[in-house]
Amino acid sequence: MEKRDYYDVLGVPRNASKDDIKGSYRKLALQYHPDRNKAPEATEKFKEISEAYAILSDEEKRKQYDQFGREGIYQKYNTEDIFRGADFDSIFRDMGFGSFGGGFSSFVERILGGFGGFQNFESTSAPSRGEDLLYDLQISFDEVAHGATREIEVPRLAECKECNGTGAQPGSSRRTCGNCHGRGQVQTVRRAGFAQLVQITTCPKCRGEGSIIDKPCKNCSGSGVARSRTKLQVKVPPGADEGQSLRIRGEGNATQGGRSGDLYVRIRLKPHADFKRDGDNILYETRVSFPKAALGGELQVPSIGGKAQLKIPPGTKPGTVFRLEGKGFPRVGGWGRGDELVRVDVEIPRDLSRRQRELLTEFAKELGEKP
Ligand SMILES: [Zn+2]
Ligand SMILES: [Zn+2]
Repeated sequence: MEKRDYYDVLGVPRNASKDDIKGSYRKLALQYHPDRNKAPEATEKFKEISEAYAILSDEEKRKQYDQFGREGIYQKYNTEDIFRGADFDSIFRDMGFGSFGGGFSSFVERILGGFGGFQNFESTSAPSRGEDLLYDLQISFDEVAHGATREIEVPRLAECKECNGTGAQPGSSRRTCGNCHGRGQVQTVRRAGFAQLVQITTCPKCRGEGSIIDKPCKNCSGSGVARSRTKLQVKVPPGADEGQSLRIRGEGNATQGGRSGDLYVRIRLKPHADFKRDGDNILYETRVSFPKAALGGELQVPSIGGKAQLKIPPGTKPGTVFRLEGKGFPRVGGWGRGDELVRVDVEIPRDLSRRQRELLTEFAKELGEKP
């Protein structure tokens, strides 16, 4: 099924309030809830509106979506994350459908099970997993304006190249643990009166791995993982926000026999000599002479990708902010651009020349002042 914009799915405007979003979801859920609507396409529709609601009802997820679109959502959240925290239970109870019992996980299982649109549905009982890593990536104003692909080098624990992660010295191999016969667990049986207690514990000899290394790999001391520096290409989307994290699956620390953690690349904006950032807007401060402020005139200001002309009207007050529409950062998702806001201050001259002093005195007299 084609992935539509979440706002379109719920039929709400981009600036819809939380209540609008909830109201619209309730209306659509009444129409498509699988307990009520048995048409085969209703389930798909219900999944679609539920995903849209889960994202747009959560401030942080909604912000991520507004900034990075669906790509940004799937990069940062898995299915569980997407639905975690959304108040489906209370909504359905209010609507008389009864709760799903067991909260969101049973909701996901019952309604969204086998949801093909997501990569990797991760169960909570997944085997051991390496740690997630955080990498701060400094990007320039220009890269935010246009988007960029950056190569980064991440120090991390990766599968050992010498032993291909087995932990055994090349040429040797692991052998099945004799203590547990490869099961990784051992049973001890204890009698207590009439009862027979069977206790299952992790095999102490192989520490649950089921196999033993005779000759540990020298490079990784048998751990199967070693320090390395991984080179990665990171796509910075145009308009990327300060502090925003891009999730790269499987590029965190590796762990033997388990899944690698994820890498989070956090965007850090390098300060710019002229500009400051305010969301999608760019802030620029400049000064004009007081005759120019009084008489009005043209002003050239730097902007992204070049220069822009600004007309200031006669009688411009210090601190006036002018808006150059569409000269800000692109909004991720392709919804136009922000603006450049130019704050104009007025310079009061010091160290006047004799001639300037005469002219100003003249001007003051014209105003009826006695200098
Ligand atoms: Zn090794
Ligand atoms: Zn064992």
